[in-house]
Amino acid sequence: MTPPLLEVRHLKKSFPVKEGLLMRAKNFNQAVNDISLFIQPGETLGLVGESGCGKSTLGRCLVRLYQPDQGQILFNGKDINTHNKPERKQYRSAVQMIFQDPLESLNSRHTIEQILTEPFAIHRIGDRKWRLKRVQVLLDLVGLPSDSTSRYPFEFSGGQRQRIGIARAIALGPELIVCDEAVSALDVSIQSQIINLLLDLQVEFNMAYLFISHDLAVVKHFSDRVAVMYLGRIVETADSETIYTNQKHPYTKSLIDSIPVPDPHHKANQFILQGDIPSAINPPSGCHFNTRCPKVMPVCKIDEPKLRVESSSHSFSCHLD
Ligand code: SF4
Repeated sequence: MTPPLLEVRHLKKSFPVKEGLLMRAKNFNQAVNDISLFIQPGETLGLVGESGCGKSTLGRCLVRLYQPDQGQILFNGKDINTHNKPERKQYRSAVQMIFQDPLESLNSRHTIEQILTEPFAIHRIGDRKWRLKRVQVLLDLVGLPSDSTSRYPFEFSGGQRQRIGIARAIALGPELIVCDEAVSALDVSIQSQIINLLLDLQVEFNMAYLFISHDLAVVKHFSDRVAVMYLGRIVETADSETIYTNQKHPYTKSLIDSIPVPDPHHKANQFILQGDIPSAINPPSGCHFNTRCPKVMPVCKIDEPKLRVESSSHSFSCHLD
């Protein structure tokens, strides 16, 4: 097996919840709770779960927007916490992020030329003439007209703005892109255009993706493997085919059953998810899913299920046989 491009070991990240007049931290929101995963070169790992389950926090830890409390992130076998200054700079070019709302992530006062030359300027790559040529190449790669350079982000549609976000993310030739709900805010027809663009770019440049989404239907056609996250933990990981046809965890079943089927005769399954995700400040004891699980047993409220390995690519955490 090829060594992983990125490996996450027992990662934890919590946020203080400040209360009272003095705004003292009395509780902690455990957004990412002991997560381990890996991503191979050129692979797409889908990360799914409901809003608030911690998947964006995990993505932000990977691009160093957040500093984890515990655990390790290894990139090409090296712990990123041990990186020296040049290695940190190299990691910043190799691991990029595409955000859900491109308008918020793009500086509205900057032209497209300024936005797309910025990564080269920060990393001191090329002169002005070279950078302008690269901008034209990037615009061509993401399907935007070459005369876009003097325009501002607000002059573009949502889909076009996401193309600008993608152009900026691929500018430095990354090996991994964290796509955080990258198509969730777009119309369905535009979603498929952006997904196709990401797939084309992946084939051309052999980039890996961590594709974060709350929508399993979108992830289904895009990912090689899928990790399902609930309340800060990964509850099941498998290749895409297995997740959709032979999933074991009741939460994964619930998510699959909530995918709309365009057939009036389709019989709804028993695993329809009820209620809201509990607070990560005070999660349920035992299995975190026990307050919503249709298969809950007495043991689930006491013992946290251990990770069970079904095969080299399939693992899940549940007490069910
Ligand atoms: Fe449901 Fe129990 Fe399995 Fe948790 S451990 S998913 S509560 S059956």
